[in-house]
Amino acid sequence: MTHNATRGTVYFCPICAAEITTLAPEHGVFHPRCCNKPMEPKQKLVRFHICPVCGAEIAVLCEGEGDFHPRCCNVDMEMEAA
Ligand SMILES: [Zn+2]
Ligand SMILES: [Zn+2]
Repeated sequence: MTHNATRGTVYFCPICAAEITTLAPEHGVFHPRCCNKPMEPKQKLVRFHICPVCGAEIAVLCEGEGDFHPRCCNVDMEMEAA
C-alpha cells in the first residue's frame, strides 16, 4: 500500500505493535516497514501545538486524562488546526 504521509499520522506494526508517527513528511511516498511487513496507518492523528511567538512545535504522543496546556515564550501554545 502506498500512502502520502500526513504530518501526525500514526502507523503501527501488526506484528510487534510498534507505533511511529510522521513529524515532518516531505513530498515523497512514505512506506514504513517493521518486522519485514508494511506498517499500517491508524485512524488516530498526533496533535501538534505550536508557539505563536517562536514557532516551536510539540506533538502529543499519548494524551492523558489531565488538562494539558503547554506554554512557550510565556504564552499558551496553540493547537494546530487539523
Ligand atoms: Zn514490528
Ligand atoms: Zn516559544
